[in-house]
Amino acid sequence: MFQHVEAFAGDPILTLNEQFAADPRPAKINLSIGVYLNDEQRIPLMGAVAAAEERLAQSFHPHPYLPMAGLPAYRAQSRALVFGDAHAERIATIQTLGGSGALKVGADFLKAWFPQARVWVSDPTWDNHKGIFGGAGFEVGTYPYYDRATHGVAFDAMLSALRALPAGDIVVLHACCHNPTGADLNQQQWRELALVVQERGLLPFFDIAYQGFGDGIAEDAFAIRHFAQLNIPLLVASSYSKNFAIYGERCGALHVSCKDAAEMQTVSGQLQSAVRKNYSSPPAYGARVIATVLEDQQLRAQWEAELGAMRQRMKQIRSELLAQLQAQLPGGDFDYLRVQQGMFSFTGLPVEQIRKLRDVHGVYLIESGRVCLAALSSAGVAPVARAMVQVMT
Ligand code: PMP
Repeated sequence: MFQHVEAFAGDPILTLNEQFAADPRPAKINLSIGVYLNDEQRIPLMGAVAAAEERLAQSFHPHPYLPMAGLPAYRAQSRALVFGDAHAERIATIQTLGGSGALKVGADFLKAWFPQARVWVSDPTWDNHKGIFGGAGFEVGTYPYYDRATHGVAFDAMLSALRALPAGDIVVLHACCHNPTGADLNQQQWRELALVVQERGLLPFFDIAYQGFGDGIAEDAFAIRHFAQLNIPLLVASSYSKNFAIYGERCGALHVSCKDAAEMQTVSGQLQSAVRKNYSSPPAYGARVIATVLEDQQLRAQWEAELGAMRQRMKQIRSELLAQLQAQLPGGDFDYLRVQQGMFSFTGLPVEQIRKLRDVHGVYLIESGRVCLAALSSAGVAPVARAMVQVMT
């Protein structure tokens, strides 16, 4: 029956992780993953999360189904975290299975109601954007994004490409901490982009998987809040996987900013219909934990402080690695560590050097040259810098 089924090629990042796990060298360092590790090289259990879990454990919690749209307190807090206090009456928000679930439910909703639209993602982007939108039946194209020379955004090329799109096409935008490059638009560029989106009648779908990992919670949501302020209809997929370090509980949200309250009600119904057809209703545990933290003043302050410390650790690692690389190879161009932000940077190292890093030095990067700085400990900075300089010279 299943003879015609073709083998799944696997995910290159997950395959590399298996190879890393099997590598017997004790000094190996894995910078290929997409998770934040603390300086002890573990996924942290945030204190605010642990405290909320303890509180929940003290109270009686049977396990009923959640509504299709998810836990009401979680939805309200999730909307406020992304949009601030503005426009609450016209934003439809549902709880989803992580940021991935938000993208998938959003994609299904869009395919049902904008069947002719095409979807445009940045070149490069998180691989699964193509998987999810393609899987929902969309034709997916790319717009120029990364400028290898400046390590920043190829903004003019990006704008010209978007200007040439037909009205109603969907543009996926990373709100902050672009994956995989770490190169983000500045506020002035977001303002310009908003005008083009408005003029051309494009439909932006923001992906915000790293809120709080760039400049701060509100700062990282600048683009979304600015577009919403201009009344541009938009979708947002938000994720708590990274900023609550709650990966496996699958916590995210999908938001649709509508014209008014009536339109919001209709859209909200269709989002629930898309949920019903996928998995009926979301899981409860992680949503209860997050709602408990965000609703409680003290736990929330604790979470914000812990998130701030994670952000600082990533910035510190960037500057330590930059200093060591510059000292060891004065002519080298390592500016990407300074201008890019979030968990990732694009090293620009060619594939042969990436392979040498892995085979000779036990330092694992994915072959695109993306490095996860959030997985590097302070003790790992010196050996990584040494290995990079050796493969480059
Ligand atoms: N979007 C981007 C850009 C991501 O990097 C990720 C996670 N790697 C996601 C969405 C998905 O997040 P989640 O794990 O919450 O599904």
